[in-house]
Amino acid sequence: MDRREVLKRMSLTVLGTLLVKPTNLFAAVESGSGSDLGLFRQSRVMMGGIPVSMTVAAERKKDADRALKAAFAEIEDLERLWSIYRPDSEISRLNAAAGRKPVTVSSQTRRLIEEGMHVHSLTEGGFNMALGPAIALWNVMDAPRIPSKGELNRIRPLMRADSVQLDKTSEQVFLSKKGMKIDPGGIGKGLISERAKVILKGHGMQGGLIAAAGDIVVFGKKPNGTPWRVGIQHPRRKNKLLASLDVSDMSVSTSGDYERYFIKKGVRYHHILDPKALAPAWTSRSVTILSPSGRHADALGTGLFVLGPERGMSILKKEGLEGVIIDADGRLHASPKLKARVKFHL
Ligand code: AMP
Ligand code: MG
Repeated sequence: MDRREVLKRMSLTVLGTLLVKPTNLFAAVESGSGSDLGLFRQSRVMMGGIPVSMTVAAERKKDADRALKAAFAEIEDLERLWSIYRPDSEISRLNAAAGRKPVTVSSQTRRLIEEGMHVHSLTEGGFNMALGPAIALWNVMDAPRIPSKGELNRIRPLMRADSVQLDKTSEQVFLSKKGMKIDPGGIGKGLISERAKVILKGHGMQGGLIAAAGDIVVFGKKPNGTPWRVGIQHPRRKNKLLASLDVSDMSVSTSGDYERYFIKKGVRYHHILDPKALAPAWTSRSVTILSPSGRHADALGTGLFVLGPERGMSILKKEGLEGVIIDADGRLHASPKLKARVKFHL
């Protein structure tokens, strides 16, 4: 990592403490009993300031350590592929080749883009990985500012998702217009958590919980045989949970307007952009999606945040998934099954 990268990361981490509210905490996992398995947990700050925690159920600490080391290494590999702060990452190379030539990508990057395109159409354009130029202009992460209408209109033609062309057989991706930029922020953490799960299972872990900020994936059971308990952060009450859910083999992904934001003249400008307005989406405060697929839960959460509660709940129903949306006025919209089994603290 060169010096610029180190400084960039440091500034992101510092900024993180200023702008990033404690995100979706997962409730403490109590020690196991009734089996020979124990719980082992490690946490790191990765990907420029994102807290990543992993808890596994294993018989021996030695095995747990080995599995956790491999899973964290996998995340570092994916970060090297997808970081928009590394000029040599696959996503940066793809962005740099926009309008010039297709780029051959790894199967992980293909998966990321394929799912992004799928959720783009599912969310009627609400999820759009091609928003990179607008995300860079708003720069909520580094140096927040409100771009002018003229600036936004000038880059609008660069954000058509159908200008992202994926050739599945050759694993090549072409961004057809110069200046286009893919931003993996709305889907990457879900896929990363999902990959960490595959590695932990491959190392013989019988249960585990991976949390990359608000993207949580659980598998198997806790040592005492009970499901994992996942907490959903309340979008307005600091360090308070909106709900706790018991889940097994599931991904729980939350998108919120409280994660990265700034307030100017009483208006909350946050990091999830409405692709039509090219401004923060003001239809929701938070969206939580449950799906067996981490990447699907992640992308869908971001996309439905943009669409808001009415379209959002109807798409969830069509998809047969559970979820909860807190709308712009703080009202709760939960799928019927979730409402029946979970107590929400509004
Ligand atoms: P999440 O926390 O998963 O909702 O992801 C938010 C991140 O996704 C932002 O910080 C941006 O990097 C990116 N993003 C913002 N708006 C969108 C959008 N409408 N579609 C896809 N990605 C987005
Ligand atoms: Mg997301």
